[in-house]
Amino acid sequence: MASIPITSDKRGALPVGSQTQESDHIIGQKPDEHCAVVGFRGNENAFYSVLLSLRSLQHRGQESAGIATFDGSVMNLKKGMGLVSDVFPERDGMVPNPLVGNVGIGHTRYSTQGTKTLENAGPFVVSNTMGYMALSHNGEITNAESLKEELKRKGSVFQTSSDTEVMLIQLSRDISEKGIKNGFRSAVSKLKGSYAAALMINDRLFAMRDPMGNRPLVVGKVNDNYIVASESCVFDIMGGELIRNIAPGEVAEIKQDGIETIVVSKGDGIAHCMFEYVYFARPDSIIDDVEVFSVRTRIGEQLSREYPVEADVVIPVPDSGRAQALGYSRASGIEYSEGLIKNRYSARTFIMPTQKSRTSAVKLKLNTIKSAIEGKRVVLVDDSIIRGNTLKHVVALLRKNGATEVHLRIGCPPVVAPCYFGVDMKTRDQFFAVGRSVEEMRKELGADSLGYLSISSLTKSIGMGENSLCLGCLTGIYPVSIPGEKYLYQTELEGY
Ligand code: SF4
Repeated sequence: MASIPITSDKRGALPVGSQTQESDHIIGQKPDEHCAVVGFRGNENAFYSVLLSLRSLQHRGQESAGIATFDGSVMNLKKGMGLVSDVFPERDGMVPNPLVGNVGIGHTRYSTQGTKTLENAGPFVVSNTMGYMALSHNGEITNAESLKEELKRKGSVFQTSSDTEVMLIQLSRDISEKGIKNGFRSAVSKLKGSYAAALMINDRLFAMRDPMGNRPLVVGKVNDNYIVASESCVFDIMGGELIRNIAPGEVAEIKQDGIETIVVSKGDGIAHCMFEYVYFARPDSIIDDVEVFSVRTRIGEQLSREYPVEADVVIPVPDSGRAQALGYSRASGIEYSEGLIKNRYSARTFIMPTQKSRTSAVKLKLNTIKSAIEGKRVVLVDDSIIRGNTLKHVVALLRKNGATEVHLRIGCPPVVAPCYFGVDMKTRDQFFAVGRSVEEMRKELGADSLGYLSISSLTKSIGMGENSLCLGCLTGIYPVSIPGEKYLYQTELEGY
C-alpha cells in the first residue's frame, strides 16, 4: 500500500521565505496556517473547480499544492512545491492540461509534521485491493508515530514523514478489510488529534471531521456540483451556496444526489480552534455557523470595553488587525483610519539574518500615512502577538512619524503554549508572552499602554462557550490527551 504519485512536479523544495510565497506575515510574527482541503463531485471535469477553490484558500498554506482526480480507471495526481499558481501555472490565460475526471480532491500545505519536501505534499494516494484512495488532510494526527509503528509491524511501508500518510494507510487498511462503513468506524476510533479531510475511494468522495471538530469543513453546492472545502468563501467566489458543516465526528459520503452521513463518532467534547476566528480564516468565511468578520469586529468592541483609552485615532496593523480596529472604533467612538500601508510585493522578511536587516525589512514592508498619525494619540490594534518582534518596530515607526502616544490593543489573549493540532507553534520559548508580565511586555514594545483581550471576552465574541472551543495555546490545557501536557477531560482517578 505505498503512495503512488501518478504525475508530480519534481522541482523539489523552495527555500523558506521564497518571494513567490506571499501571505499576511509582516516579519514572521504570525503562526503559519496548516492546510486547505477541497473535494469535488459533479457532472463536469473536477479540475478547474478544485483549482479555483484552492486559489481561494491559498492563505491556508503556501508551501505546496496538489490535485488528484479519478478518470474512471486511474487516479491522476499532480502536485508540486510553491503556490497554487506555481504548481498549476497559466499559459495564455488558461491553466493547461487539466486532470481528467468528475471527482477530485485538492490540497495546499504548510508543513506542521514532516519536512518541507514534495514527498510530504498532498494529496496522498495509495492503491489497494479496492483500487485507489486519495486523501487531503488538514490538522495533525497526535498519535501518528504510534500508529505508524503498529502499521509497520503489520507490514505497511511508509515513504514520507507525514502524519497524513499514516492516516491514509490506516484508512486504507481498515476499509479494505472491513468495508466502507465499518472500516471508517474502525479507523476513526484509532485516529487521535485533529483532522478535517476529503477522501476519494476511486470515484467516491467522502468528507470526514474529527470528533472535536477542531478544523473547519463545509459542504456547498455550485450549480449541480457538490464541493467540500475548508472554508465557505469558496462557494461565494464560485457563485454557489453553503449547504452545511460537516459535523464533529461525522464521516459523510458526497453523492451525486446529496450528502449521506455514514458514521458519527463521539469524542470527549467539541473543541473548535479559536485561532480560526482570530486570525487564520478569511473574514468572509462562515465557520460552524459563525461569520469570521463579525467575530473580529466583536473582538474589537470587547477590547474597547475592557481597555478604554482617551485617543484621537484607531489604526489597524494591516491586514490582520483591520476588523478588530473597526470594532474598537465603533464601540469607542474614536475615529478609524488606515495609518500603516503594507507593501504586498516585498519579500517575506523572517529569513533576513540580522536584526538590522529585519528592521529595514519592516520599513520596506510597512510605511506610515503621516497625516493620519502626526500629533495624534494612536490606538494600534492587532489580532494577536506571537513573537512580538515586529510590533516593537511598528510602535517605534509610529512614534518616529509623530504619534504622541501609542496604545496597543490585542484581539487575542496571550499565546503561551504550543499547538498540537496543525499550527506551526511548537515550542513555548518562541512566545513573547511566556515569562513576561503585561507591564514587561508593554515596556519592551515601547507602548504607552497594552491591553490583551480576556478569554471570556474572546469566547463571548465568537459566540461559543469555553466547552466548545480549543483554547490550548492560551491555557496550556488541551482537549486531546498529549503526553506531558494538561488534559481538559482528565478524570481525577487517572492521576493515581
Ligand atoms: S492549540 Fe490554539 S491554534 Fe491549536 S487548535 Fe487549539 S486554539 Fe487552535
